[in-house]
Amino acid sequence: DLHKVARALISVSDKTGLIELGEALAARGIEILSTGGSAKALREAGVAVRDVAEVTEFPEMMDGRVKTLHPRIHGGLLALRDNAEHRGAMKGHGIPEIDLLVVNLYPFEETVAKGADYETCIENIDIGGPAMIRAAAKNHGFVNVVVDVADYAPLLAELDANDGATSYAFRQQLALTAYARTAAYDSAVSAWMAGALDEAAPRRRAFAGELAQTLRYGENPHQSASFYRDGSGRPGVANAVQQQGKELSYNNINDTDAAFELVSEFLPGDGPAVAIIKHANPSGVARGATLKDAYQKAFDCDRTSAFGGIVALNGKLDAETAEAITEIFTEVVIAPGADDAAKEIFAKKKNLRLLTTSGVANPGVPGLTYRQVAGGFLVQDKDTGMIGLDDLKVVTKRQPTEAELRDLLFAWKVAKHVKSNAIVYVKDGATVGVGAGQMSRLDSALIAAKKAERMAEAMGLPEPLTKGSAVASDAFFPFADGLLEAAAAGASTVIQPGGSMRDDEVIAAADEAGLAMVFTGMRHFRH
Ligand code: 5GP
Repeated sequence: DLHKVARALISVSDKTGLIELGEALAARGIEILSTGGSAKALREAGVAVRDVAEVTEFPEMMDGRVKTLHPRIHGGLLALRDNAEHRGAMKGHGIPEIDLLVVNLYPFEETVAKGADYETCIENIDIGGPAMIRAAAKNHGFVNVVVDVADYAPLLAELDANDGATSYAFRQQLALTAYARTAAYDSAVSAWMAGALDEAAPRRRAFAGELAQTLRYGENPHQSASFYRDGSGRPGVANAVQQQGKELSYNNINDTDAAFELVSEFLPGDGPAVAIIKHANPSGVARGATLKDAYQKAFDCDRTSAFGGIVALNGKLDAETAEAITEIFTEVVIAPGADDAAKEIFAKKKNLRLLTTSGVANPGVPGLTYRQVAGGFLVQDKDTGMIGLDDLKVVTKRQPTEAELRDLLFAWKVAKHVKSNAIVYVKDGATVGVGAGQMSRLDSALIAAKKAERMAEAMGLPEPLTKGSAVASDAFFPFADGLLEAAAAGASTVIQPGGSMRDDEVIAAADEAGLAMVFTGMRHFRH
């Protein structure tokens, strides 16, 4: 299954490593065909090349829209070398065998990311490149296809190991990479078009990503797993830089995402904020005078659960916060940057993973979320809903004070990131009880209150911090019982969407308990 490489076609937009590759191929006696810009670069570096135009006997035309789209090229990529009829066609029509294709595509994703206009994006849709890649990959029985600069070195190593030939298994791997690339490329085009046409969901678009990392295992050790980037470049776990620590696991990535998306609700203008996540739900979230202060308050919400947690900050990690975080076992810290002193402190904890991002993830930026179901998947707009003071409607006799309103909005932001049914108690800019993922809202209210009691005991406080707190419910209270449970735990203000058939009952119960309650008119289910 070894197949000798005698002729290569090189057509690359990203010219990184091009000259070195050209020289290395030429040194191995491989003839090089190439397109306009690539041929020029090679020739200027003294590498002998033949122009594709010379083979096709057609000039490159229409601003490069048509360069390699020709039977002499595609025949050379697709012909079965062991098929007499195919060989005859090659001979009869002057088609050269192409054993190696090196292509990287017009930078469509980068062009979109730069915010280019419609026409420019259209012009950056590569046509001939994907056509050749798909042809060469189909014919991997004989043809090598390289679409990634990172594969240049392994290709040369393979050629050297096999006296100028490559093995079938090697070509198969290249073909697999090639089809993943063309699929991701077309999905980027389709995602961009869906966005450009501003179609309402459900959008008719394709989904694919670029492999970012092969993971050791999935949610459980008997599941294999990998991590893909969607090409959006959004600040967050997929585009973060790992500064130190062990390799990220599947669960780490999932939790780190939850942590960073949550803390990003607090824009840098809102002051320092910290979220600690366990199993995709916050064990504590707080704002503080400093990041360290915020971390301490978030930690105090549930010191037990914070152990082995994921910590996200909305500002640059500093030394004092780093010091505080290292006092207990933490899996991952993610922040928009870290200063040198903080990095030094973390360096002593070899396993602790530190990820830095290019900024916070503006929660208002639209995007999509996906969820798999058996045989398909659900796609929806990201929940970019944000509630401000002006959106609130006071429905009780008692009006909340300004300080209470601040805690209500804080609780609301956190509830958006807690799995439903979500009940969140907040006092002075910090969660003091989080009830997540229960099948009944009443149970979420009970559990959160219970945890606050336990913390008060552990910290030697005279009463749970839920006394005088603000409570948020991610969806309306269908009955008064959940609300009354929160009131029993000491909540004095309530924020919830409203809209239940029994709103009147719930409002009456709130009035009776002396609560101040506001409606948001928007719910934040998160399942
Ligand atoms: P060069 O810089 O060598 O002139 O162009 C290289 C780029 O052209 C590569 O990204 C390759 O995918 C692309 N390409 C090659 N053939 C064709 C073609 O026939 N049509 C279009 N649109 N692009 C092509």
